[in-house]
Amino acid sequence: MRVFIKPGFIVTPEEIIENKGIYADITNGRIVSISDYYEKADVEIVLPKNTIAFPGFINAHDHLLGSYWPRVGEGPHITWKTWDDALKASPLYKERSKIPNFYLYLLGAYKNLISGVTTVMDHIPHKVNDNFIDKLPIRVIKNYTLAHEVSKYDLKWGDGVDVEHKRAVENDFPFVTHIEEGFDEESLKGIDYLKQYGALTEHTVMVHGLGLSDEDLDDIAKAKAHLVTCPVSNYFMFKTIARLKEWFARDINVSLGTDSPMSGSINILEEIKFLKMAYKSKYGEDIDDRTILFMITKNPAKAFRINKDFGYIKPGYIADITIVKFKGDIYSSIVNAWFNDIEMVIMGSKVVYAFSEYEEIFKKFYPQGNFSKVILDRKERLIIGDLNTIMKQVYGFLGFKKELPFIPIELEY
Ligand SMILES: [Zn+2]
Repeated sequence: MRVFIKPGFIVTPEEIIENKGIYADITNGRIVSISDYYEKADVEIVLPKNTIAFPGFINAHDHLLGSYWPRVGEGPHITWKTWDDALKASPLYKERSKIPNFYLYLLGAYKNLISGVTTVMDHIPHKVNDNFIDKLPIRVIKNYTLAHEVSKYDLKWGDGVDVEHKRAVENDFPFVTHIEEGFDEESLKGIDYLKQYGALTEHTVMVHGLGLSDEDLDDIAKAKAHLVTCPVSNYFMFKTIARLKEWFARDINVSLGTDSPMSGSINILEEIKFLKMAYKSKYGEDIDDRTILFMITKNPAKAFRINKDFGYIKPGYIADITIVKFKGDIYSSIVNAWFNDIEMVIMGSKVVYAFSEYEEIFKKFYPQGNFSKVILDRKERLIIGDLNTIMKQVYGFLGFKKELPFIPIELEY
């Protein structure tokens, strides 16, 4: 089965293509060609002219187990450790733990999906997420090794930095760790520790990096290692953001992540807006909107070593596509986007989320009816799976109807 998707514009993300469509194969989920005809398509999705197709967004840092709200333990802290202690001692943490882990993962997956994210890096030991990630409506990166942080008091995830990093190199996986998330003496040694372990390489993906010195950044650039920033979470916990201009100046590959909503943003769209504002306030100049787009598409695809399949709209790539309404100009459309500007999300050539006027198309993809009608941010939507029932089950575990702004659903309960 073949599908032809015709938006107003296609952003690959390096190029802008006008007046063409994406021809994709449903059997293997991949893009066949970018062309201007659709003779052989079984499903034709003709979108309004004021829409833009981007590669499905990649959220480079989340903890899906923490898909709850509101944020807890506002800073300024000196290290993440005092925030973590505050979180775990909070009544909200107790409330959250009434929800089974699988349901927290479902909440996190839908949170990401409705903001246009199709792939997430869930930073957590494999034993926590292994059983869930195949049952979620989005992709969660499976191939990674990890540490929690590289410091003496970190949470000791995995088998140790040297073992995990070596495993990453052997399998060509990313080795993912928090780094220098804080300003105490121990946090600031993060890069030195990594170097001692021989673990600062192109397989290394480091999150936060608030305390990174110029020397550290030079070492990271030289090693071709990757950085991920989560400005909302950083600002909430530390009242500052990372030295991004200095990161960019060294051509380091930088990606954007949300962290969990218990310290970070409610979704990637909020994260982008905050990044834009905080960068301007820190440096007195704008971060380029195209740079931001790269931070949620091709940069994380490269960091997580999935850039042969994801991060681009090109023939041969998996057809994960986020369609956004045109607002301002092509690139600023992602900065200006909010829930109702996400026109449609496509994963592996199939529509998984859209406005309800696309119902006939949904029926073609899901003749068994594995999708539901929901009201999100006051608009009727179609979405893969049964989100209404999931939300009611979550309310059931809690014993009350909990408002979660990252899934702004209207529901009788
Ligand atoms: Zn984190």
